[in-house]
Amino acid sequence: MRNAKQPVAGTEPAAPRQAVADNSKFAVPLADGLAVEAVYYGSGTLCLSTQVGCAMGCPFCASGAGGLQRNLRLDELHAQLAAARERAFRPARLTLSGIGEPLANPEVVARFLLERRKAGLPVSLTTTGQPLARLASFLNLPHNGLMLSLHAGSPATHRRLIPRGPDFEALWRLLAAAWPRLSRRQRRRLGINYLLLAGVNDRPAELAELARRLQRFPELTLHLLTANRVAGSPFTSPPPPALDEVFRFLAARHRHVRRANRWRQRQEGGCGTLVVGGAARPSAPTGLTTEQYPAPRLRP
Ligand code: SF4
Repeated sequence: MRNAKQPVAGTEPAAPRQAVADNSKFAVPLADGLAVEAVYYGSGTLCLSTQVGCAMGCPFCASGAGGLQRNLRLDELHAQLAAARERAFRPARLTLSGIGEPLANPEVVARFLLERRKAGLPVSLTTTGQPLARLASFLNLPHNGLMLSLHAGSPATHRRLIPRGPDFEALWRLLAAAWPRLSRRQRRRLGINYLLLAGVNDRPAELAELARRLQRFPELTLHLLTANRVAGSPFTSPPPPALDEVFRFLAARHRHVRRANRWRQRQEGGCGTLVVGGAARPSAPTGLTTEQYPAPRLRP
């Protein structure tokens, strides 16, 4: 029997989580002169990019504000991990949640998941679910967690916030069809990301509709995220008391609701802020301003 302290041949020795005081965002130059950014969280998670730019067009996101330039190659994903290690970071886990839509670079992402899993480093990913046919197959890949960026309880809000994402109703239908075939363990590894934006998707009707849709997926974890500040962006998250109110409202209706951990809440927390040079500016959402919506009043 293998000594539990010995690594399996060909795997990486388990890295003890490296405690750092804050998140660290760094650029990784690519051979063709482009660059991407990655973030090492103080929690020991390394967030990697899968594309240079992004085609999804989320209006709150600086990372995709310049559109898509190209997919990253497999060696360029590994290069981001190597760059983190060169900075003496020792990630305990990886997440493909940086710049880009992982499902738009499927072969590279699938190979990266498999290779890193073999090497003993768990990998999760964040996706809009576009294209849906690929999402169906990715649900069954050996990931350590798949987070669906939804940010909406209604089709209209979903279209505004992820304009080139999948069809909202078709996404729920796909989940409903896949659900019975997933093990309980697989179900617990799926989550919904909901970036709370003041006056945009924090109205009671929107949240109640989301809670209603979640009823048939009791194991799904709903992650409430807050926006990181981006210069010139009109998007902000509600203030802490309103966030607490939203959390209580949803937690009273769904069993698994989580708030962003303290690392994700910090300024280098990454959500929509990864952009080399920091020049891009998110645009105002189509057809609405944050002033057009009254502050929500929620009853748990
Ligand atoms: S939030 Fe994600 S999917 Fe949307 S534009 Fe930014 S990087 Fe792309």
